[in-house]
Amino acid sequence: MAPDPNSGLRFQCQTGCRKCCEVSGYVYLTENDVSEAARFLKLEQTDFEAQYIYRTRNMRRVRKPRGKSKQCPFLNEGGCGIHPVKPVQCRLFPFWPELVEDRKAWAKTGSWCPGIGQGSLIQIGTAMELANEMREKYPDAYE
Ligand code: SF4
Ligand code: SF4
Repeated sequence: MAPDPNSGLRFQCQTGCRKCCEVSGYVYLTENDVSEAARFLKLEQTDFEAQYIYRTRNMRRVRKPRGKSKQCPFLNEGGCGIHPVKPVQCRLFPFWPELVEDRKAWAKTGSWCPGIGQGSLIQIGTAMELANEMREKYPDAYE
């Protein structure tokens, strides 16, 4: 269902929460995310990629840790180990096109993301701008 342009969404990330880093799914990176994360961890990009990145023809994603229930190798006790340079999809969550443009999907995500429905109202135009950034940064995911 198309969003009502006069309505808004409420969201405020909750301190100490890491649920979006723990739910099942893949963490995709832009080329810039890859180089920034390698630089942040003080690794040569080739070494960083060998350890952490799985590439397909058009996409790059974080390798899930083997034999562990963890979804992302950068999640540690203190939270995201690459927080200042975390991938675009992590930075923009939950303002992804498939959530912002579908109220049912937004509400469903709110069943596990405690930030959804909290905080001040975010105008739909602002939410759509963030969603469009997702489209721009991951063109192959939103063809
Ligand atoms: S699940 Fe929601 S509230 Fe929790 S860290 Fe992620 S965005 Fe923030
Ligand atoms: S990169 Fe950081 S923010 Fe993104 S899923 Fe991994 S731990 Fe979470």
